[in-house]
Amino acid sequence: MTDTCEETVKQLHRSFDEGISRPLAWRREQLERMKRMITAHHKDIERAVYLDLGKPAAETALMEIKLVLDEIAFVKPRLGRWSGRHHVAMPLLMQPARSWTIAEPKGVVLVISPWNYPLMLSLEPMVDAIAAGNCVCLKPSELSPNTSALLQRLIGKYLDPRAFAVVQGAVPETTELLKQPFNHIFYTGNGKVGSIVMKAAAKQLTPVTLELGGKSPVFVDASANLDVAAGRIAWGRFTNAGQTCVAPDYVLTTPDLVEPLARKMAAFTRKFFGDNPAESLSYARIVNTKQFDRLLNLLPAEGKAFSGGETNRERLYIAPTILTNVDPHDPVMQEEIFGPILPILPVQDAQEAVTFINRRPKPLALYVFSRSKATRLLFERHTSSGALGFNLPLGHLLSSRLPFGGIGASGMGSYHGKAGFLEFSHVKTVTSKPTFPDTLRLAYPPYRKCQK
Ligand code: NAD
Repeated sequence: MTDTCEETVKQLHRSFDEGISRPLAWRREQLERMKRMITAHHKDIERAVYLDLGKPAAETALMEIKLVLDEIAFVKPRLGRWSGRHHVAMPLLMQPARSWTIAEPKGVVLVISPWNYPLMLSLEPMVDAIAAGNCVCLKPSELSPNTSALLQRLIGKYLDPRAFAVVQGAVPETTELLKQPFNHIFYTGNGKVGSIVMKAAAKQLTPVTLELGGKSPVFVDASANLDVAAGRIAWGRFTNAGQTCVAPDYVLTTPDLVEPLARKMAAFTRKFFGDNPAESLSYARIVNTKQFDRLLNLLPAEGKAFSGGETNRERLYIAPTILTNVDPHDPVMQEEIFGPILPILPVQDAQEAVTFINRRPKPLALYVFSRSKATRLLFERHTSSGALGFNLPLGHLLSSRLPFGGIGASGMGSYHGKAGFLEFSHVKTVTSKPTFPDTLRLAYPPYRKCQK
């Protein structure tokens, strides 16, 4: 395994050193080929993701395939401008002189992706890395084996094999890969592994992007349109059976709204998935028994959920579940839920919600449903999170114009669109001064005033 990993990465470095990935035409061509690959195989992709996650085809089409195609469409016509010279003025003291910046590719990039959006989280970082002119080694998740195998087959067939490699495997293979020299590591997954990745990267001073998770809170106040809030929160939470990094993880609201909000959200889950979500073709499954058992431990005793709570281990099914009567010390509030369970907790007001959120690790996303300008400003100015959404869970994920990433425990660095292009680039400063007149001589020693 050591030899294979080492040889694969060496080959990518050779390709990068030969300059294969630098020409803008090559980058555009690879992005075009990726588009053809996805379009030609969208049924295969939907099937593979379904086999891995029981994800409905419509969700794969919208949240995986379309997002990657949108990213390609956004980045491809702009990469020339982004990588060209950007002129800036030199200080008067240095005149006459010119200066500019250019974005150069970092080199060979390692992308380590997770299982929950196995296509999108593998290909979107690759799109940005290609746009910036890099060679890429992709390590998809072993927990979504059908999609990972498909990615390996399709990338080998459609993209330039000199510049791209897919290494499959689990912890041993990733550990081996992390010993190899890379110019950037882009990791998406949980924070514990994020710290392993960063430690390995530190040994070779390799820069990292960490796209992590955590508990993304929601605050709802009395001024909000409760029907709209309930629908959007339920959609954000129960899409992909709650296995979305930016899904609402818990809801804070005033005590009088806990029950009405829970009732409205429960009604929405019935609208989305019918009276028996186990039979719904629109509802995904839990990825594996390990995750299922972890989630089971977060559920209260049978019959104690406000709605839902039914489970079936054989079918990896957990019903969309809403919890009230939750204590902040309950297990469900101690870790990222990452499943179809949504606790609602009472707080007295927006200020208490802000204090509650600020006492915990910085979230990847924070959502506020309120018509009050003062409340919105309070959250914008006095909380810190990867993203902040007013009345809109998940929305920021869908735009290539917005940087996507976390802060603190939810990650570092960002991507999508120009942010992604820059993440995989080194912005190099270039200066140029004519030799005549040689004004720099004025700065040469000896310094008259200093002479005794
Ligand atoms: P996972 O188990 O698939 O792991 C992610 C990757 O890390 C895989 O490729 C895996 O092989 C590798 N890995 C696992 N253990 C390793 C180890 N010990 N050493 C080296 N590599 C290792 O996925 P996961 O971590 O369960 O993913 C879910 C988490 O990811 C959640 O916390 C979620 O919030 C977060 N997430 C974040 C984003 C984001 O964009 N910020 C997106 C999706 C998921």
